[in-house]
Amino acid sequence: MSTQKTADLLARRERLLGVGIATFYQDPVQIVRGEGVWLHDADGRRYLDLYNNVPCVGHAHPHVVEAMQRQTETLNVHSRYLHEGILDYAERLTALHHDAISTAVFTCSGTEANEVAIMMARAATDGRGLICTDAAYHGNSTEVRKLSRLRSAADKEFRSIPVPQLYRAVDGDLAEDALTDAYLDLLQAEIDGFAADGVPFAGLVLCPILANEGLPDIPSDFMARAADKVHAVGGLFICDEVQAGFARTGRWWGYETSGFEPDIISMGKPMGNGFPLAGVVAPSELVNVFREKTRYFNTFASSPLQAAVGQAVIDVIEQEDLLTRVNEVGAHLREGLRAIQETCEPMADIRGHGLFLGLEWVKDRRSKEPDPEGADWVVNRLRQDGFLLGRAGENGNVLKLRPPLVFEQEHADLFLTAFESAVADAPS
Ligand code: PMP
Repeated sequence: MSTQKTADLLARRERLLGVGIATFYQDPVQIVRGEGVWLHDADGRRYLDLYNNVPCVGHAHPHVVEAMQRQTETLNVHSRYLHEGILDYAERLTALHHDAISTAVFTCSGTEANEVAIMMARAATDGRGLICTDAAYHGNSTEVRKLSRLRSAADKEFRSIPVPQLYRAVDGDLAEDALTDAYLDLLQAEIDGFAADGVPFAGLVLCPILANEGLPDIPSDFMARAADKVHAVGGLFICDEVQAGFARTGRWWGYETSGFEPDIISMGKPMGNGFPLAGVVAPSELVNVFREKTRYFNTFASSPLQAAVGQAVIDVIEQEDLLTRVNEVGAHLREGLRAIQETCEPMADIRGHGLFLGLEWVKDRRSKEPDPEGADWVVNRLRQDGFLLGRAGENGNVLKLRPPLVFEQEHADLFLTAFESAVADAPS
């Protein structure tokens, strides 16, 4: 696209939507069409999408499009009528979770799902205090946005812990078991802090793979033992599967990668392949207390249309055996990256699960000084080469590879070739 056209669109966007809305890439992309793992721009150029997890079964998947169209033509209303579609969907979705999960509350965004999750934890425990990580993001409503470092220090109902991780550990001298204990002590300190402030504890809110935190390797058993700690003081473990859910990690749910069973699970993004579908699942006792205390209603949620789309997404994940594909292609991608890492000093750590990988970019492997500018250079260079990826993490220095799940080995190979030549050209 010409520089003039890009400048015109950016100015028009500012005028109509307001200032300060970020775009990806120094040279923003004007996407007009998507198909599978490909995005096409206004000039007819195609880009391999290594960023978008929302269209998990691929952009414009025909089975999802067809389900959406058929249901729209038939009926779409709110949830104050009887309709079997949403019940069938709730039954199928809850059956994909661990055995205690039986009941669902549907919403239209991940933020709303986390609102419901924290209302549910508070309703069930009569507590208020919630703990997240220092670098968490769980949504943008007034209450959910407090689940991050951005909250006001005056807010006594929210506390956070350092991101539990191996790479930038709180104490680099500790062996992994001792490190798990150290992070659990930090969690206990925040629980005790609530007690000292007279704030009754409601629970812990974590993404099971700490995606927005930069996808660090988590000290072993931290999640399971954190759940025990939370339960010991009457709290609940809310697991935010908005990023990790729906086969992303090579398991249905992120919590399966670290072997624990959360009490309340929020989901979103990939759930509707781009259609606004999100929700919470939990044991019926928790959902019933929440329903009785809040009388929750959400106009566009729990609709026949949401159910039809949600069913279609699960159909594709099952019929195209995407769990197997994610594991195979994810392993292939990781292997290729490992080979490149041998001669690529800034790529200090490769981590993640399934088709969600993070590459820690540093100025120097020994000092581990983060290199967000270097990571940004790679992202922008690959955009020019026709590959779309992004950055994440506390320091903005983690390259994020998170393509639609229909990403195949041939796509991984295309990317690896481009990535290798991009990093070879990177300014040192
Ligand atoms: N939880 C996590 C882990 C997220 O990454 C996000 C969005 N990036 C949300 C919740 C919020 O979802 P939404 O934007 O659909 O409200």
